[in-house]
Amino acid sequence: MPDTGGRRKRGSEWKLSNAHEVGQLVRVQCGLCGVKRWYQPGDLKEIFGDIEAELVGRKMSCERCGKHDFMHVETQNPTARERQGIRVRRLAEIRMVRRVVWKDEN
Ligand SMILES: [Zn+2]
Repeated sequence: MPDTGGRRKRGSEWKLSNAHEVGQLVRVQCGLCGVKRWYQPGDLKEIFGDIEAELVGRKMSCERCGKHDFMHVETQNPTARERQGIRVRRLAEIRMVRRVVWKDEN
């Protein structure tokens, strides 16, 4: 790896706020069941903070199969025509849920 002096190459980091500014939508697809969902980058920013768009996949899990290992994220600029066929999932509310996690004793 060449030393970039700690600076990242321009364009290598595309944050949710960048996507929001240019009016992109975020497409998240589950590679396992093939379900595609579209989100507003602004909504995702509410939830995860202003992270790199491609990192969103690691933080979401598929609403159908519940897995998150196969989530593929792309930011896209759909044309006005494509946009008509897209149903964007909007953030309805954020709930803090208490979850119990068990593990086996070693
Ligand atoms: Zn899935």
